[in-house]
Amino acid sequence: MRLKDKVAIVTGAASGMGAATARRFGKEGAKVVIADMLEADGQAVALSINSAGGKAVFMHLDVTDEANWAKVVDETVKQFGRLDILVNNAGISGSATNDMLDSGLWKRLMEVNSTGVFLGTAAAVRQMRHNGGGSIVNLSSISGVVGQAFVHMGYNASKGAVRTMTKSTAVQFGADKIRCNTVHPGLMPPMRTSGATADPAVRAKMLKAVPLGRAGEVDEVANAVLFLASDEASYITGAELYVDGGYLAM
Ligand code: NAD
Repeated sequence: MRLKDKVAIVTGAASGMGAATARRFGKEGAKVVIADMLEADGQAVALSINSAGGKAVFMHLDVTDEANWAKVVDETVKQFGRLDILVNNAGISGSATNDMLDSGLWKRLMEVNSTGVFLGTAAAVRQMRHNGGGSIVNLSSISGVVGQAFVHMGYNASKGAVRTMTKSTAVQFGADKIRCNTVHPGLMPPMRTSGATADPAVRAKMLKAVPLGRAGEVDEVANAVLFLASDEASYITGAELYVDGGYLAM
């Protein structure tokens, strides 16, 4: 088992890639905290992991709430004794509106996608220092590297911030044996909050820019997160792993 006895928090684990990652972690021997605002869906993911012989609990978390972060990390340590892995996966879509100049969406994107990752990193680093190290994996996107026609620039900016704050984390806390890396998914199943990028006509246009000629699957992202979270990536920090079918190679 690749994560035997590791304790992991996965944010946004009630849905999509977070749920796939949490399930994969459960199969690999980790004790997993499903941290999300969606209680019923999160409980269902935890139940599926426990029914398959793994160990998971649901905890309510709004990633924009610093006090909530402290509570989740404290409760994790109370239940499982330590924190080894944080996956900052929770996020909202940049195609929720067609108004590319909507300032309200800009603020919300930065708050959830960027500030949420900073607050999670701060809470985890404080705890991981006590454990003698840990691994943080942040979900950025192809949108954290390039601009796109159908995506609000707040999404690109928020994911670009995740990309660079990951490198800051790697540089500043390497001496504490804390590694931090990004995974950058490309065209994946739509997010719950997706608008235009869930439209089949828009997706068909986006597919033309994918060398592998298909959308990715949530388990393909979970595989990449698992590798970076695990000790197999013990000398990898500050790195970017693109899981995009070659989109960024074009
Ligand atoms: P999803 O919408 O299926 O899941 C996102 C999860 O985050 C949901 O469970 C939601 O409840 C949770 N969440 C949202 N706001 C939250 C908050 N404030 N506090 C706690 N939880 C919150 O999306 P997904 O496709 O699984 O995306 C996962 C991550 O991957 C996101 O960061 C997203 O930006 C990124 N990403 C997605 C795609 C894609 O096409 N789906 C592509 C590249 C990157």
